[in-house]
Amino acid sequence: LPRQPAAPPLLALDIGGTLIKLVYTASCCGAGGAELRFAKFERRRLQECFQFIRAEGLLGCNGGTRASRENMTLKATGGGAYKFADDFREKLGVCLDKLDEMDSVVSGANFLLQNIPGAAFTHMNGQRHPINVSPNNLFPYLLVNIGSGVSILKVTGNRKFERVTGTHIGGGTMFGLAKLLTGCKSYDEFLQLSQKGDNFVLDLIVKDICGELVCQKQGLSTSTLASSFGKVITSKKKLTDYKPEDLASTLLSAFTYNIAQIAFLVASLLGLRRVFFGGSYIRGHKSTMENISYAIDFWISVSLGWQDLNICGLSSIRSQSQMQAVFLRHEGYLGALGALMSYGD
Ligand code: ADP
Repeated sequence: LPRQPAAPPLLALDIGGTLIKLVYTASCCGAGGAELRFAKFERRRLQECFQFIRAEGLLGCNGGTRASRENMTLKATGGGAYKFADDFREKLGVCLDKLDEMDSVVSGANFLLQNIPGAAFTHMNGQRHPINVSPNNLFPYLLVNIGSGVSILKVTGNRKFERVTGTHIGGGTMFGLAKLLTGCKSYDEFLQLSQKGDNFVLDLIVKDICGELVCQKQGLSTSTLASSFGKVITSKKKLTDYKPEDLASTLLSAFTYNIAQIAFLVASLLGLRRVFFGGSYIRGHKSTMENISYAIDFWISVSLGWQDLNICGLSSIRSQSQMQAVFLRHEGYLGALGALMSYGD
């Protein structure tokens, strides 16, 4: 970002259902420009967030005096920008300029995609490949923002979008259940547990229902998931008999496949080829991205057999026979980035 060397830092916030995300500028030594920095706090740790803002001098002049900040406004989005506006005024002496959340998420995604080389990439079969996007080939696309809940948007240009749908069964649901079932204390701990676990201890697969022989005869894939957590029903095991690792792995795959399937169906109905995934749910976690890509590919191949379905966009995905799941660097900060960009408005 080209900026005046003496300019005070810019700070924008996205205060969501689970996390507070901060994006702010910091001068780069000698370059006369500024770099973007990112920080996040659990929403229940608002006081720590205030301390961080003060300690980093993000209100300018090491915080300045209360009087000097009287007219200062910070760009903020997310539901918490409304809920905690009084706390920001009382504790930091600043006003929040509240921005629409979906506007901010789309601006943030478009900014990343059009200005940061290598910001978008695919992740499949253990390989990460950057994809080239330019304003000419970027639109339209589907943006699936997986936060506490999931928002699904059709983006047709800069500031041009429609929130198509969403689901309340998102990252908050998964992490909430994870805390109850595995006793994990943090999201990173949950992700680490899931890496060590085996979801087939709890998941029911097609082979478990039909037997291997029938599967082979009927050409069914033996390892296809039939019911997440489905094995628990016929088992005598109690919750404590299951390893937290296996529970974590089952939860992550159940939610990830489900969200990817919804994304596939919405993209199909709208005839959209590119699906970008954002939100802190992904957290740069390789298996999550792999599973989303795998699920999209799985449903593409299944949809090739849907010859008799005649629902608008479905025919177009059959003919285009390809849909791409694309991931973003800084995927959890789209709303906060968009809010930061709005200082230029
Ligand atoms: P929101 O704006 O609703 O807070 P986010 O995009 O920040 O949504 O995503 C929140 C979700 O991301 C959580 O529900 C959880 O699934 C996951 N997550 C990632 N990192 C963390 C973390 N450090 N603490 C809690 N949840 C996290």
